[in-house]
Amino acid sequence: MDRLERLLVLAGQYDVVVYISKLRGDLLACWIPSMRRIFLEVRLTDDEQCYHLAHELGHVHLEHPCARTPSTPAELDRERQADRFAARVLIEAPTYARLEAVNSDQHYLADELGVPVKLLRVYEEDLLTKVRGVTYAQPREGVGQWAHRQMDSGAEEVMRQRLGVA
Ligand SMILES: [Zn+2]
Repeated sequence: MDRLERLLVLAGQYDVVVYISKLRGDLLACWIPSMRRIFLEVRLTDDEQCYHLAHELGHVHLEHPCARTPSTPAELDRERQADRFAARVLIEAPTYARLEAVNSDQHYLADELGVPVKLLRVYEEDLLTKVRGVTYAQPREGVGQWAHRQMDSGAEEVMRQRLGVA
């Protein structure tokens, strides 16, 4: 089952039907609570469809109202929450850890993970601290990873202190 199929199964668990069609204007995706339907723009790439579907499912999960063009602080906060949900759904911690040990550049990571750079930033800013404790707690991803890690010595020092590695 590919990523889009898994997301469609997830949508089904929320009793939501997903329509992929030609949307009006510049609309890429939307969630219509009263119809329990998510609409996705057909011209999006597979990765873009996955991102937008996961984001809209975040609104579904959090029971947000529909907001066509979010502008108030409350609406923008709900957008961030939906992205946080999408980041959890789309980015697997072990995969992130493996890639980040090779190259911590955000564009590289986003590309490899098939997510927008802005979603990777949400993941790193809002979710990574908790994730690191779990991910790097495994011995094979501990001290050994520093050998092939590209990081300046100051940042490495901070990471080592955080990990409790001498
Ligand atoms: Zn949204």
